[in-house]
Amino acid sequence: MLDYVGLDADLGEEERAMRDSAREFVDDRVRPEIADHFEAGTFPTELIPEMGERGFFAPNLDGYGLADCSQKAYGLLMQELEAGDSGVRSMASVQGALVMYPIHTYGSEAQKERWLPDMGTGEAVGAFALTEPEHGSNPAGMETAAEKEGGEYVLTGQKRWSTNASIADVVLVWARDTSEEGDPVRGFLVETDSEGLDVRSIDEKLSLRASVSSELDLDGVRVSEEDVLPGVSGMKGPLSCLTQARYGIVWGAVGAAMDCFDTVQEYATDREQFGKPIGGFQLQQNKLAEMATSITTAQLLAHRLADLKERGEMRPQHVSMAKFNNVRMARDQSRVAREMLGGNGITLEYSPMRHMANMETVYTYEGTHDIHSLILGQDLTGISAFE
Ligand SMILES: Cc1cc2nc3c(=O)[nH]c(=O)nc-3n(C[C@H](O)[C@H](O)[C@H](O)COP(=O)(O)OP(=O)(O)OC[C@H]3O[C@@H](n4cnc5c(N)ncnc54)[C@H](O)[C@@H]3O)c2cc1C
Repeated sequence: MLDYVGLDADLGEEERAMRDSAREFVDDRVRPEIADHFEAGTFPTELIPEMGERGFFAPNLDGYGLADCSQKAYGLLMQELEAGDSGVRSMASVQGALVMYPIHTYGSEAQKERWLPDMGTGEAVGAFALTEPEHGSNPAGMETAAEKEGGEYVLTGQKRWSTNASIADVVLVWARDTSEEGDPVRGFLVETDSEGLDVRSIDEKLSLRASVSSELDLDGVRVSEEDVLPGVSGMKGPLSCLTQARYGIVWGAVGAAMDCFDTVQEYATDREQFGKPIGGFQLQQNKLAEMATSITTAQLLAHRLADLKERGEMRPQHVSMAKFNNVRMARDQSRVAREMLGGNGITLEYSPMRHMANMETVYTYEGTHDIHSLILGQDLTGISAFE
């Protein structure tokens, strides 16, 4: 795959091993079936235990059977999974960064022991429910409430767009704790067989089709005090998880674009028109040159972000800039790749249009492109333009 400035040469042994394992997994297990799943609107659930066996769930966390790998190794894993499909990377991102990370960082010892080993192996699946039907870009507006009754909380509200929820064992539901002053947002670990919880799949999607997206109704769901994350209160909880997941997206978007590039580089030399390969025409060469340059720039940003994260110097605004740049790049370049494939480009036989459709979701979730530009604008001026 594209490595124009030789970034591979600087990878450590662990990073190369993770990259190679994910690349092999995607070649053998994702590529052969993913177009069928995309068409059918299904997620290949049979891959979950295999992903667990290979250590693809939160390998950048330590203890509880997790690998404690470098941030770059984790990023490369996300890159390779998304080269297969954004749905596969999303499943792993939600499991690792949005559910295991908060349990690991803010959970009690009992919560960690209950969930982390099983989620690490893929025996248990997690989902993250922050977004509500009326509150997406501004999750602080959430209405889902947790009312304290003795040693329990009673949860009432609605959540929308929760990835994995219909196949999950546990959903981390963010809700306002009405028993405390200011109704702070807290994280509740809700098992999906809980009474009063209704989980429905959202099937009518034109993007991220090989992924489970769900909506949740919580109608008096009882959660014991032991299932509340004790270590965090307020929006810092969900927002810190999003920073972790967005870091994975920064790499994943590069993977999707690399897969598009590989596809069209080969096509441009094979496909002949006017008696020669289309790659021999200046217009097509310009597209390849733009694509390779944009991908390489995004790779450099991802690698730099990994170094900052490793050193504990990565700020959420750094992640916003990288998501802003890399996802826009993958969205634009997957479209150019589709165009270079001509009529064949609109079929499922080739990956670019699938990636292109997926990028509409990736551009929107985990903070829309607009919201990341506002985060950057605020950082650069000191003035918030959110409201
Ligand atoms: C397939 C998929 C999977 C998802 N998975 C999850 C998940 O697992 N868990 C979860 O909690 N959520 C998930 N989401 C939800 C996702 O994070 C939200 O869709 C996203 O935050 C945007 O919210 P919204 O859809 O309500 O759009 P809105 O917030 O209504 O935004 C609509 C438009 O207005 C723009 N806009 C909003 N505010 C401003 C402003 N202040 N200034 C300028 N423009 C603005 C936006 O950029 C956007 O273009 C998922 C979404 C999708 C599509």
